[in-house]
Amino acid sequence: MGFSFTLLGSGSTGNTTLVSDGTAHILVDIGLSGRETARRLREYGLGPENISAVVVSHEHGDHCRGVGPFVKNLDIPVFMTEGALASSGMKLDPRKHRPISAGERFDVCGFDFTSFSVPHDAVDPLGFVIEKDGARIATVGTNDGLLLCSLTDEAEPLRKTNRMMKSLAFSRDGRRLALSSNASTVFQYDANSLAPVSEPIDLSPNVISSLAYSPDNQFIAIGDRNSNIHLWRLEPAQPVTTLVGHQGPISDLDFSLDGQKLASASEDSHVYLWDLKDGKATRSGVLPGELPLVWRWGSSSG
Ligand SMILES: [Zn+2]
Repeated sequence: MGFSFTLLGSGSTGNTTLVSDGTAHILVDIGLSGRETARRLREYGLGPENISAVVVSHEHGDHCRGVGPFVKNLDIPVFMTEGALASSGMKLDPRKHRPISAGERFDVCGFDFTSFSVPHDAVDPLGFVIEKDGARIATVGTNDGLLLCSLTDEAEPLRKTNRMMKSLAFSRDGRRLALSSNASTVFQYDANSLAPVSEPIDLSPNVISSLAYSPDNQFIAIGDRNSNIHLWRLEPAQPVTTLVGHQGPISDLDFSLDGQKLASASEDSHVYLWDLKDGKATRSGVLPGELPLVWRWGSSSG
């Protein structure tokens, strides 16, 4: 088990992150409007009624303008500091407010949250370390993008992205974490120590949009916004092949459980199924709707 971490929105138009273990769905910040948040949740097969709690980092509009409207008709808790609530001007039923403060550890629907202060021009801005079932991640929403932090007491930033962080994948054995900003480099970390492992994979000038590890953790598939999928062998990192056929940015990738096939989806709603022995697409199709679909092979691979 573990949990997923999905950026529904990022940047000045509105920061909203969905944290989910498949049962509990938590929104960290709602900077998008309530209506837009509901629309983006539908891309993941969810509705407002599926959200179990909201956690707010600070009072700036790009982090909380949608909170009031979103929870208006929902009976769910909103975790935020007294200072942030007071200075946000938000209309929130006091019975929904769960006051939090920096350095506090609190439970949100089975997720273990630890808050820490971050430097930001706000009343009491917080970042959060989120843990569940041994999986953990830290996030700080700032105007600069997203921080992924180590889990030392100081929550030292591990890597700061100046752009929206687009892709993140854990290896199937849970030992590695790969991430890329909305840029051209894939960084890999030890998922426990968050120490860098191996050299970054640089695919410039391509902009990376999706990542997946093979089940045996020997390969990584990297989708880019130019419609290509780069298959790399790991340790040492070297390119194996490039899968060409999509005509839109690659929005999601997943290996079959036996590692023989790769499924890919692109933002123009096409899905391809690739045979990795010969690098040819064996099947392709068009998804209903216009939205990129996030999906996973089978029912158990998560
Ligand atoms: Zn802010």
